[in-house]
Order: sequence, then C-alpha cells, then structure tokens
Amino acid sequence: MLPFNKPYMSGRELDLIKEAYAQGHLSGDGMFTKRCHSWLESHTGSAKSLLTHSCTAALEIAALLLDLRPGDEVIMPSFTFVSTANAFVLRGAVPVFVDIRADTLNIDERLLEAAIGPRTKAICVVHYAGVACEMDEIMTIARRHGLPVVEDAAQGVMSSYKGRPLGAIGQLGAFSFHETKNVISGEGGALLINDARYIERAEIIREKGTDRSRFFRGQVDKYTWIDVGSSYLPGEVVAAFLFAQLEEAESITQQRLKIWDTYHCWAERLEVDDRLRRPVVPAECQHNAHMYYLLLPSLAHREHFIASLKSQEVGAVFHYVPLHSTPQGRRSGRVSGQMDVTDSCSERLVRLPMWIGIEPHMDRVLAACETALEHAEAASRMHWSSAT
Ligand SMILES: *Cc1c(COP(=O)(O)O)cnc(C)c1O
Repeated sequence: MLPFNKPYMSGRELDLIKEAYAQGHLSGDGMFTKRCHSWLESHTGSAKSLLTHSCTAALEIAALLLDLRPGDEVIMPSFTFVSTANAFVLRGAVPVFVDIRADTLNIDERLLEAAIGPRTKAICVVHYAGVACEMDEIMTIARRHGLPVVEDAAQGVMSSYKGRPLGAIGQLGAFSFHETKNVISGEGGALLINDARYIERAEIIREKGTDRSRFFRGQVDKYTWIDVGSSYLPGEVVAAFLFAQLEEAESITQQRLKIWDTYHCWAERLEVDDRLRRPVVPAECQHNAHMYYLLLPSLAHREHFIASLKSQEVGAVFHYVPLHSTPQGRRSGRVSGQMDVTDSCSERLVRLPMWIGIEPHMDRVLAACETALEHAEAASRMHWSSAT
C-alpha cells in the first residue's frame, strides 16, 4: 500500500539529538529550543515564538491570553480540526461557526461582520492546506471591532500572504510540527506572539503560571506562581529533532511544491472537462504544498474514488467532519448563517498522497487516480439510474 503520508527525515535529526544528549540538558528551553525560537522569529518576523508540545497547546495558550469568560464568543470556520475549537471551549467560550469560501475553503471574510455580536471576543482563522485566508480584509474587520485575530497556521509553516509569513499576521499564530505536517518533530508546535503586549504573560502561562523564564534570564531572583498556566513546553530532544527539520524547511517546501505541481498539471484537463475541481491558490498567496486535494462532484463519487484507490493500493483520505455537525460541536458552538459550502465541500473533498519520496511512484498514483475517477463516475451513474 502506498501510504497517504510518510514523515520526512532530514537525516540530521539523530546527530542533533546526540548533541542534546551530550549537553545533558533535557528539559525545555535549552540550546535547541533557543535555536528553534531564533529560526522561527527570523523566518516569520514574529516578535516572539515559543515552542509548545503541539499546535493544540499553542492554541490553548492563545485562548488563555485572551482572558475569555464563559459565554464569550470566538468566530471560526466549522471546516477545521477540533483543536481550533477545543482551545476556546476549554475556557468556556462558544465557537461561532462561519461558512467557508468555495475557492480556498478558508473562512469567508464576507460573512464575518454578520457573525460579530456583543459577546464576540476574537476571530480565529485557519489557513487550510497552507493557503492564506484573505488576511487584509479580516484584519480590517477585526480592527474595526477591536477584536484580536488568532491564526491557526498549523498547516501554514513556510506559507505567506502578500509576502507576510502566515502565523505572523494576526495578534497570535499557532504552528504544528505534528508528523502529518510539512516540518515535523513527531508531536510539536509553536505559538507566535505578534503583539508584544502578550509576550510576558505567554511565557508565564507556558511555564505553569510561573515567572521561571524571567528567573533564568536573571530578571528576578526567585520564581513563583503568579498566574494560571500549564506545562506547554517540549523537551530538548524534541527541539533538537525539530531544529534538524527547520534547517531543511526551504528544501522540504520546494520538494513538496514539485509534487503538488505534478498533481495540479495532471488534474488540469479533468477540471476543464468538469469532472472535478482543483485547489485554488490566489495570486497573493505563496503556499507550502501542505496538501493536494480534489473536489469531486458528490459524496458518492468520493466514496467510490477512495475505495478504488484503496483497491489499487494507493492511500487517500477525506478530511474534516464539519465541527457544527459533530456531537461536541452542537453542544459547544453555534452557527452563524448557512453552512452550505462547508457541508458540500467536506463531503466531496479527497486528499491525495503527498510526501517527499513519492516522486518515483507518481506515474502509478496518477494512473490509479484516473482509473478511480472513471470507476467513481460509472458507479455514481449506476446509483443514479437505479434510484430513478
Ligand atoms: C494539525 C492541526 C492542528 C493540531 O496540531 P497538533 O500539533 O497535532 O496539535 C490544529 N489545527 C489544524 C488546522 C491542523 O491542521
């Protein structure tokens, strides 16, 4: 079976882990964490980055920083991973789900204003597939209403919008280094703090609510419990692994973009013939080839397509169950307006295998996709005629 995902290894990970071992400093915020912070800050222009053990954790720190009270509302897409919503729900806040754009599948900025009410405290956007949301428009609306913007840039490492790196545009941004992402450390993440007012408190929250970071910098002579917090930092072994990947981030992105382009060229004719729809990357967005997906005509097409690929030993998967239609999403959140695009796209989207090393197999993958598409079309026609 050709897997859907295969984690990339730069080859330097073990060398750097050995260095961390030799240093004998294994808890967080040692030399490798500092190197990762410098890399992230210099590559994104963010005022401050903080490694976390996941993007989920980075979003949780963001939610704590926003001082949400039970009943406060946070606007977000429904077409996203659970962590986007969980972080705020854990603080008692209510996710208000807004539909997505039919082109990028990102939150539809034209629907934001209608979702903003007296209890709205923040907007959390998600850059799906590493393709940026319409950030200029979103930041303008947020400013007009005095709302902070959190970017769930879990998939957006190395992507940019009008030249500005994703994660560094809103007040706060969150990256993921989970092994299913482009740049990885197994489990891992980072919080980008772009509004300097949040820096000091973010360090405290990440260090169990203590001013331990200031103590280590010699700014206070003892550290103590001064705020709420938790343990959100990774150890040095994970940071060493991550740094070996960050060093290769440019090359990883370039290699993935080539694979992405291979898919995109192949699917062009199929799109012209109206048999499927390809991803849309607006001109102002530089993406990172996090994902290649297709939008098929219907849920039935997708089911047959994935089953056919599986029978041809090619792994392909669908993506989110929209949060507004999940058991916890119904309990915790509410929708603003219609969810038509979210409902339709989430049923029709299929993600194709995307990992460095797949290049020699691409001919076989594309041939399997052609066969799967024909199979899906024939099977859907059959269902149609037997139903009528
Ligand atoms: C992967 C992902 C997350 C979670 O990342 P972790 O590092 O696994 O916590 C959150 N949001 C989105 C949009 C993601 O794709």
